[in-house]
Amino acid sequence: CGIVGVLGNHQVAPILVEALKRLEYRGYDSAGIATVNAGHLERRRAVGKLVNLSDRLVEEPLSGKAGIGHTRWATHGAPTTLNAHPHKAGPVAVVHNGIVENFKELRTELNALGLTHETDTDTETVALLTQYYMSQGHSPQEAAQKTIARLEGAFALAFLFQGEDDLMIAARKGSPLAIGHGDGEAYVGSDAIALAPLTDKITYLEEGDFAVITRSSIEIYDENGTLANREMRTIAIDA
Ligand code: GLU
Repeated sequence: CGIVGVLGNHQVAPILVEALKRLEYRGYDSAGIATVNAGHLERRRAVGKLVNLSDRLVEEPLSGKAGIGHTRWATHGAPTTLNAHPHKAGPVAVVHNGIVENFKELRTELNALGLTHETDTDTETVALLTQYYMSQGHSPQEAAQKTIARLEGAFALAFLFQGEDDLMIAARKGSPLAIGHGDGEAYVGSDAIALAPLTDKITYLEEGDFAVITRSSIEIYDENGTLANREMRTIAIDA
């Protein structure tokens, strides 16, 4: 339902929760965040309101200056903590808006490869497939690209990777996603409103786009894999 991501220069957990709050109006049943801290990928999730996630983060804080967050509106799998995003498989964490229509076929294929699922969601197959491609020697970027090529349905996705404190991958097909430009920081959001306190400089991904994001560079590829020159706009939203 709602996606945010930050490659920042400050502790990112409270920034992610604040950004998710700005998407609350869309409705959601659970929420979660993942961060990379000195290479270590970890997550916290909670059912219900964002205050439950905040409470969870007081009990067990999450450090790190790179992170992704999600508010979920369940389509596949009950609204439980286990089914909440981010979904994680080995070195990969992913947040997802929309539906992966062919998740059952993908899950069967993954199970045959020895990769088992823990949740009832369509989204977990995205994490598992990316993990699989990485285990075959592909870089995070290649693995995410190969995974996205396998997905049917409508989605916006943001990925974070173990060992990568300065990398986010984002993709859009059928569900909106915006990239925010900061001063030595970079952001993603399913809605620019989420990013308003952080930046007013926004690039909207177009259908089929795939973005490789670091604090100092944003590369966007179109659906043919060609480097695309997407316009950066300055938007006016009340922060
Ligand atoms: N289909 C995914 C799920 O049920 C994502 C739902 C959403 O857009 O929040 O977990």
